[in-house]
Amino acid sequence: MIPTVVITPRGEERLRSGHPWIYRADVTDVRAEPGDVVAVRSARSRALGLALYSSRSQIAIRMLAFGHGEPAVDALVRQRIDTAIAFRRSLAIDATACRLVHGEADLLPSLIVDRYGDYLVVQALSQGMDRLMPTIVDMLGDLVHPRGILARNDPRSRLLEGLEQRVEVLAGEVPDMVRVTEHGIEYEVDLRQGQKTGLFLDQRENREAAARYAHGRSLDCFSYHGGFALTMARRCQETIAYDISEDAVARVRANALRNGVAIDARIGNVFDELRGLERLGERFDTIVLDPPAFAKSKSAIAKATSGYKEINLRALKLLNPGGTLVTCSCSYNVNEAMFAEIVYEASVDARAHVTVVEKRMQGRDHPVLLGVPETYYLKCLILRKVA
Ligand code: SAH
Repeated sequence: MIPTVVITPRGEERLRSGHPWIYRADVTDVRAEPGDVVAVRSARSRALGLALYSSRSQIAIRMLAFGHGEPAVDALVRQRIDTAIAFRRSLAIDATACRLVHGEADLLPSLIVDRYGDYLVVQALSQGMDRLMPTIVDMLGDLVHPRGILARNDPRSRLLEGLEQRVEVLAGEVPDMVRVTEHGIEYEVDLRQGQKTGLFLDQRENREAAARYAHGRSLDCFSYHGGFALTMARRCQETIAYDISEDAVARVRANALRNGVAIDARIGNVFDELRGLERLGERFDTIVLDPPAFAKSKSAIAKATSGYKEINLRALKLLNPGGTLVTCSCSYNVNEAMFAEIVYEASVDARAHVTVVEKRMQGRDHPVLLGVPETYYLKCLILRKVA
C-alpha cells in the first residue's frame, strides 16, 4: 500500500486554489516515512493527489500530481522533466547556460536543474526530492546526455528538512571551471563555489534589456561577476562596477579581459560608494542596482524597505536627465507594488521626474506559478529620469 497522509478541509481548499504546499498544521494523519511519495487524502478519504512528504519542514506536503488516479512516480517525474526541458528549448535562449527545471513552476516542487554548457547542476531542496535524486540523475543522463552532473545541495533551506549540506559530483566528471556564453559574452563559471548554482541565470533577460538602454557613462552596483557591466560596456564610453566581494571583483576583471571590454571594477560597499560618488559630484547616464535579497523574511521588510529606498534615492541623484536606472529586487517578501512604491518615494526625495519604461521579472526559464506568490521573487524596473 502506498504511504498516505490525510489533510484538513482548509488544506484541501488550498490545493483547490492551485497551491502545491500543505503546511504541517493542515496534516491530520501520517502513515509515511520521511521523504516518501504519499497519496494525499481528504478527511473523508477522497483521493486528492500524489505528493512528497517531509517529516521536518513546516511544508509537510509538496504536490506532484492533483486529483484521483495514482500515476507511477517515475513515469510522472520523467514526463515532467522532459516537458520542462522541451519548454526551455522552445524559448530559443541565446545562451549556453539556463534553468531547465524551476521547481514548483514545473510541477516538480523543490527540484532545480540548471544547465551550464555540457554540465548540469541540480538541487534537491526537500526530503522527497533528495530521495528521488538517483532516479532523476539517470533520467537527466538519458534526456540531456551531460558530461557531468553536480549536486549543489548546499542551500541553508536543506537544514530545515533535516538534510545535510553537500556539494558532490553525481555523474560523469565536472571540471573546476566551466565556460559558457550568454548573448555573445563568455563567462568562466565555478559551479562548485559560485553563488546560486554559479551564475545569476534569472537576470539574463534583464541584462539583455539593460544593454538596449545603456549609453554614456554606466555604473553597475552589486555586480557579482559583472553580468550587467559586461553587456553595458560594449555600448558605453565608461563602465564602473562595484561589489563588496574581492573574489567577485577579480572575476569581473577577468571576464572583462576575456571579452575585450573595459570595466573599472572596484571593491566597495555600494551604500558607501554611492554616497562617495555623490560627494564628488559624479554623474552617470546608466545605473544598475541589483542587490542581494534585503528581505529574506517578513520581519526584515522594514529594514529592507529603507535599504532599497536609500540606494534608489542615491542612484536617481547620480543620474543625468535622460539617463536610465535599472533597479531590481529579488526579495519575494517585498512584492511588486511595495517595490514600486519604494522607488516612487525615492524619486520624490531625489526631486526627480521618472517614467517607467519597462516592468520586468525573472527570465522566462524561471516562470512564475500563478497563485504561488513565492515563485514571483525578482522584480526589475527600467526607469528613465526625465528631469
Ligand atoms: N548583478 C549580478 C548579480 C548580483 S548578486 C549579475 O547579474 O550576475 C548580488 C551581489 O551583491 C553579490 O555579488 C554580493 O557580493 C554583492 N553585495 C552584497 N552586499 C553588497 C554591498 N553592500 N555592497 C556591494 N556589493 C554587495
